[in-house]
Amino acid sequence: MEPDVYNQAIDEALSMLPPHIRKEMKDVIIVVEDRPSQRPGAVPITRGQILLGLYEGVPLTAWGREYSGKLPDKITLFRESIERIAGRPEHVPHLVRETLWHEIAHYFGFGHDKIHEMEERWRRHRGEAGSPAGSDRKDKHP
Ligand SMILES: [Zn+2]
Repeated sequence: MEPDVYNQAIDEALSMLPPHIRKEMKDVIIVVEDRPSQRPGAVPITRGQILLGLYEGVPLTAWGREYSGKLPDKITLFRESIERIAGRPEHVPHLVRETLWHEIAHYFGFGHDKIHEMEERWRRHRGEAGSPAGSDRKDKHP
């Protein structure tokens, strides 16, 4: 799959966020990697055993975040996993968006209960209750 597909899906996902959320995203870098490498302290999102994306950093809501150093937060999307789960190329942008939003929610300090609630709402809102990317969601955190 062309890198452009990812860039476009990422741009789209970001442009669909409310402006006040988007404004807070300036300290986050978003990268696409072929596959995960083990990193300590990273928050994964998995579907079954498959790692789709990763958020690394200190959530906005964390105490003392302002003093937590200068490294920008980082969200990584894993191309091979996303393509495997998506199954078909036309499902990739959708899964990129969902994964990215999930990781952004971590950045804002949300836990999984809250994130799943929001994800349900997004899906209902977009009429995607039966979407291939939305079923069998099993995220795991260490
Ligand atoms: Zn997660």
